[in-house]
Amino acid sequence: MFTPEDALKKENTYIAGTYDVAVVGAGHAGCEAAHACARLGLDTILFTLQLDSLANLPCNPSIGGTSKGQLVREVDALGGIMGKIADKCAIQTRMLNSSKGPAVHSPRAQMDRSMYSVTMKHYLENTDNLTIKQAHITSLLTKGDKEVTGVMSSTGAIYLCKACVICSGTYMEAKTFLGEVINESGPDGLPRSVGLSASLKELGIPMLRFKTGTPVRVNKKSVDFSKMQRQDGETDIPPFSFENEMNGYTVPSEQVPCWSVWTTDETRTVISENMHRSPLYSGVIEGVGPRYCPSIEDKFMRFKDKSRHQIFVEPMGLNTNEMYLQGFSTSLPEEVQEKMVRSLPGLSEAVIQRNAYAIEYDLVDPLSLKATLESKTVTGLFTAGQINGSSGYEEAAAQGIIAGINAAMKVLGKEPVVIDRSRGYIGVLIDDLVTKGTNEPYRMMTSRAEYRLFLRQDNADQRLTPTGYKTGLISEERYEKFMSKMKDIEEETERLRKTYISPSEELKKILESIGSVCPVSGISLAELLKRPKITYDMLEPVDKDRRPLGRDVIFAVETDLKYEGYLKLEKEKIEKFKELENKELPSDIDYGAISGLRLEARQKLDRIRPENVGRASRISGVSPADIAVLLVYLEAYRKRRPKEGSET
Ligand SMILES: Cc1cc2nc3c(=O)[nH]c(=O)nc-3n(C[C@H](O)[C@H](O)[C@H](O)COP(=O)(O)OP(=O)(O)OC[C@H]3O[C@@H](n4cnc5c(N)ncnc54)[C@H](O)[C@@H]3O)c2cc1C
Repeated sequence: MFTPEDALKKENTYIAGTYDVAVVGAGHAGCEAAHACARLGLDTILFTLQLDSLANLPCNPSIGGTSKGQLVREVDALGGIMGKIADKCAIQTRMLNSSKGPAVHSPRAQMDRSMYSVTMKHYLENTDNLTIKQAHITSLLTKGDKEVTGVMSSTGAIYLCKACVICSGTYMEAKTFLGEVINESGPDGLPRSVGLSASLKELGIPMLRFKTGTPVRVNKKSVDFSKMQRQDGETDIPPFSFENEMNGYTVPSEQVPCWSVWTTDETRTVISENMHRSPLYSGVIEGVGPRYCPSIEDKFMRFKDKSRHQIFVEPMGLNTNEMYLQGFSTSLPEEVQEKMVRSLPGLSEAVIQRNAYAIEYDLVDPLSLKATLESKTVTGLFTAGQINGSSGYEEAAAQGIIAGINAAMKVLGKEPVVIDRSRGYIGVLIDDLVTKGTNEPYRMMTSRAEYRLFLRQDNADQRLTPTGYKTGLISEERYEKFMSKMKDIEEETERLRKTYISPSEELKKILESIGSVCPVSGISLAELLKRPKITYDMLEPVDKDRRPLGRDVIFAVETDLKYEGYLKLEKEKIEKFKELENKELPSDIDYGAISGLRLEARQKLDRIRPENVGRASRISGVSPADIAVLLVYLEAYRKRRPKEGSET
């Protein structure tokens, strides 16, 4: 344990300030956490190693994508800022999977990378109660029985605080790998974090080491786009931010294209001839990499049945020629990278402006966290983002807002916020990390969300804005607009249910246009809308009483009616899920004393100490039979508890 008093005994140390909350790291998690604490009225300080890299996008210059788009909208629905900043800095927007069911529709936008960082920094600089400081935090200070009390920087400055949120990303003890060249560096040549990881380890926090990688950036002047497939954006899609949507904001009409190419046999040859020089395959890299974001050499090694791989060539901004080669990350040597890039169609003359590389970094084992993202080991310490084993800007922002809210709730002595799996991808993300843990960078996917039909990108506000409002992050004005939208949805759905129309030539024409039969008697507009291919817009000619409504309201009404049956089934499943989720497990339960529980289950339950039976049931190694034993024990425990006082 290292107390402020111990720190002050060191040379050149001094108390630099006292805050309610200290947030270490101004990446995507830290920005959300600091913003939440400051917006909730707490005196907050936000640290970063390099101010000009605040909210840096060190990898793909895009926000959103499959399941990640849902996360961005959920962060916005709670009162977070990623969606707003992304709307401001988008240079191309698309709704992925729009040809599939609404459960997998996901917004994605290409970002102007430098504009994103500048815009986020300026937004936070204008946020009340928030101080931003470029400093290298090297130690966590605690008092008593491991309770957070401050942080210390490499210059000896001590910042006292009541709660601390660490969002150190890919920086702790980071090393970069470019073939045989290994540097003790953070991403993009930025300084790495030294000492903080050891400070956490000394406090008994279990640490892990992961790796991730990024591709080259080339100068677009050296690219022959005529050899590539052009991919344009879409302009008739909603922005990320619900507030922007309610205020009539539309995505940019002027958009820049992306491009795609396929690897060639020459690419495969160059890579296979140089595999021995890959730090990944030579074993130099110890950290575990992301299975779902593999390097190009990994793809060729693992997917031997695939003769080629698709690469996306994406612009990194409006005032730069840099193009990002999505799907081509590698840590092979520089000279090999040039040959690999020049083997791609349209890139035979490519000029590489930034090399690809891999990075290894320390992180916290997320099994050491509560569902509130507070450490089980150090009271008042919260962690969020890549430090918790996730990968991705959106996953980081989602954890950042929850950790920020809960650090604030801790200081304010209020109930913490936990989003469960049935209420959001945020809930799935955090529950997976803190209940199941992860042994590689965890990336969100729609397949991870068992209730995804409910967790659509368009209804994130319905699911989470009331929580954001109750917490204090959503303003009165915004909540009123939200409530009037909910009223519109409810009233319009009711009107469609109650409005019956008789068969007519007009209706017959509409239905025949999609090969549907015109009913012989009256039918409600809602019933008509449930028919496949029938859209709300198509029914306008036969729906005389409709009033002008926002696109977001129409989409919600149409989708909820069309999927009413499925949603009803999903709701029943969620009710069952909540039964176990609401069965709390006492924090001091002695799993070792529960006969009938298998040894593995006792050990896992004792280590993870789940807050409720639902979470216990998702711990790997805890079987349904163990849960049955636990439920019986819990019943007896409840009956015994009032009579026997505290002994268990
Ligand atoms: C090379 C590379 C490749 C990547 N590839 C992918 C990918 O393919 N797919 C994907 O989804 N994601 C990828 N990512 C991950 C993505 O960048 C992160 O998921 C995301 O940025 C994490 O956000 P964060 O807020 O947790 O941390 P970061 O964005 O990393 O921010 C961390 C912040 O903490 C600060 N900091 C750290 N230590 C200290 C300290 N001791 N004192 C003060 N400040 C400190 C830093 O200055 C920085 O501001 C990649 C990242 C890198 C670096």
